[in-house]
Amino acid sequence: MEYVSTRGSAPALDFEGVTLAGLASDGGLYVPREWPRFSESEIAALAGLPYAELAVQVMKPFVGDSLTEDRLRDLCQRSYGRFAHAAVTPLVQLDQRQWLLELFHGPTLAFKDVALQLLGRLFEEFLSRSDDHLTIVGATSGDTGSAAIDAVAGRERVDIFMLHPNGRVSDVQRRQMTTVLAPNVHNIAIEGTFDDAQAMVKRMFNDPGMTGRFHIGAVNSINWARLMAQVVYYFAAALQLGAPARKVAFSVPTGNFGDVFAGYVAAQMGLPIERLIVATNVNDILHRALSDGDYSAGTVTPTAAPSMDIQVSSNFERLLFDCGGRDGLALAEQMRSFEASKAMRLTNAQREGAAQLFTSARADAADMAQAMRWAHEECGEVIDPHTAIGLHAARAADLPADIPVVTLATAHPAKFRDAVERATGLRPHLPSRIGDLFQREEAYAELPGDYDAIAAYVAERATPTG
Ligand SMILES: *Cc1c(COP(=O)(O)O)cnc(C)c1O
Repeated sequence: MEYVSTRGSAPALDFEGVTLAGLASDGGLYVPREWPRFSESEIAALAGLPYAELAVQVMKPFVGDSLTEDRLRDLCQRSYGRFAHAAVTPLVQLDQRQWLLELFHGPTLAFKDVALQLLGRLFEEFLSRSDDHLTIVGATSGDTGSAAIDAVAGRERVDIFMLHPNGRVSDVQRRQMTTVLAPNVHNIAIEGTFDDAQAMVKRMFNDPGMTGRFHIGAVNSINWARLMAQVVYYFAAALQLGAPARKVAFSVPTGNFGDVFAGYVAAQMGLPIERLIVATNVNDILHRALSDGDYSAGTVTPTAAPSMDIQVSSNFERLLFDCGGRDGLALAEQMRSFEASKAMRLTNAQREGAAQLFTSARADAADMAQAMRWAHEECGEVIDPHTAIGLHAARAADLPADIPVVTLATAHPAKFRDAVERATGLRPHLPSRIGDLFQREEAYAELPGDYDAIAAYVAERATPTG
């Protein structure tokens, strides 16, 4: 399988190449040259497989010659063996129509573990082949950071520098990052928002002073391998609910548009998805873009669902590319103008392409709290604020009555227990796999939101390539 950049001028790469690359050299994101497609009978044959084996079958066409099937199977078994639930991503029924897909049974309590446990192992595998060293630089609104750090802590040939917006992540999220004291883990709290942190990381990927000395890699969802691993659970849920004979809709609490784009990929592969509902909080750029074509970034409002407090959604570019006729050079122009003015209009092709599969909904704090209370009082399920935004959108969706709606439960409620307690009066317990998180020592640097300071910090501590 070959991968091409959304901006049309970076070299094509194979799976190993895109896994180790950050942004494409033209500033774009890598996508497969074409979508692999399963027939109805091939999809039917996937029903009932254990999760790790389903992962092998769904990911195999994307991995191509970069790994043998046995090697891929070994990595999947080790990655998904670390989950605290035998089903890995169990499906829970709420009422006759609504379902929750629990994606938080990994080591750090959010869906990010599903892809990052695998990505950490892919890095190790590919780096040992080329005898190289990788410097991972990432920005996190909370959950990517802890999942990525858990996935690479103590691994050979990898250093990780994780930027988080100082004071804007939950105490559980921060401690899950800052109490990992492995020598290859570097936490940096920067002044500013997640978007500021993400902009610094993007700039570093494009800074020849850094990329010339270090092999800089990505763990954010700009990394294709992450999206690929997330495609698997859409198959898992739909198969359980009767696919391919029956269509399913998904509601996805969305920030960087990575998780919901994985659903789009599943649909391109032939999985019969009726709708993908993009659920946002009041930081609603995606809701505006999908409902009236207005992609313009406002200022970020901090909410109880911090992993969705994002105005610029990196992976939206992948959708614009695929729906807009795959014209990389035109998209490069459109994105350059967006980066300059922080606003753009979607083209008609992009709007119509997106509208075939996507709808969107926006939930404010009251909608979120109400969805949390409904799940608790009517179904006995305690859900986190991100999941509650997804559930609000799922219940509001206008869909044929026979279509089951699966809300992706993206985080364990204990990860956001203050917000859960405010809405439901119930304080969720941290699961035992978190251990003595609040007794452990923390270590992190505090830096200003200044690119030069951050680049200097990384350069002093990273291992040069070659
Ligand atoms: C990362 C995250 C999201 C948003 O996912 P994207 O792929 O960035 O759209 C939603 N909920 C939780 C709990 C998250 O950690």
